[in-house]
Amino acid sequence: QSDGYMDSMQPGAPLINGALLQRRMDIELYLRHAIMKKEFNLVYQPVVDISTNCVVGLECLLRWDNDNVGYVPPSEFIAIAEESGLIHEIGEWVLREACRQNRKWQLAGLPPMFVAVNLSRKQFNDCRLSGTIAAILEETGLEPKYLELEITESLSVEARLAADTLGKLKELGLRIAMDDFGTGYSSLGYLRDLPMDKIKIDQSFIKGLQHGQVNAIIVSTMLTMAKQLNLAVVAEGVETEEELQVLREYGCCFVQGYYYSKPVEVRHIEEMLYQLA
Ligand code: C2E
Ligand code: MG
Ligand code: MG
Ligand code: MG
Repeated sequence: QSDGYMDSMQPGAPLINGALLQRRMDIELYLRHAIMKKEFNLVYQPVVDISTNCVVGLECLLRWDNDNVGYVPPSEFIAIAEESGLIHEIGEWVLREACRQNRKWQLAGLPPMFVAVNLSRKQFNDCRLSGTIAAILEETGLEPKYLELEITESLSVEARLAADTLGKLKELGLRIAMDDFGTGYSSLGYLRDLPMDKIKIDQSFIKGLQHGQVNAIIVSTMLTMAKQLNLAVVAEGVETEEELQVLREYGCCFVQGYYYSKPVEVRHIEEMLYQLA
């Protein structure tokens, strides 16, 4: 009954609704063949240690370009992939590709970095996940400590089940980060109940960060809490020198955002690594 896509439509606009519905069906149709047709691409955004300017890791972000529907952002197609069940195949492709690419960089002599992969809710709830990841690590030869999984707070599973799944994943030796931290309705509950290694402060708290603001109080409190809980912290969406400066004063060590680099194609990564160094 409650189709998220339908819910977002405005009542009394049947033509627009029809167009939206058609687009959703087109996206699902073309998404179905996107892997086979090699239409997906991963771009990578550096996570930077602000005390050294070194890149410690790269988050991979999925891009999809199709001849019929054009470029579709992940914010649009991931939800459709979830609803249609295609996310399992797509998510596995992303995991394999990211691990393979990271191993390749290591073999090419780049300093070892972690690669961070976003997991969607359905992937996380799939009991085969840890087996799939173990197989991918084995197959690509990537050491588990160089893989990080990003999950969001909207897991909508029982805390105990989520803790079991995370336990199994962590047994493999990889790390777990909570993405978009602070935006979910039970951020602190998740932190209390689940074995996390890292939080990624959502970009909405970072935008325009200045001393004295509500956002600044929240961010500095998150940093203090994370330190006491022994969690690493990454601030997301850092775009300006001012934001970086405030974060530095609050003792934040790692940032990600346009200030350092947008997500970039594989062929630009090496260039970018030299530029930052
Ligand atoms: P996310 O994981 O929170 O990724 C961060 C998003 O913020 C990315 O958008 C990135 O391009 C953008 N971003 C990074 N730095 C800045 C900045 O300084 N300013 C601004 N305004 N934006 C910045 P993107 O690539 O469009 O991805 C959106 C979301 O789609 C991601 O949010 C993630 O939740 C999801 N996503 C992307 N790739 C995948 C994937 O392979 N699998 C799954 N399940 N979800 C994915
Ligand atoms: Mg992420
Ligand atoms: Mg995020
Ligand atoms: Mg997000």
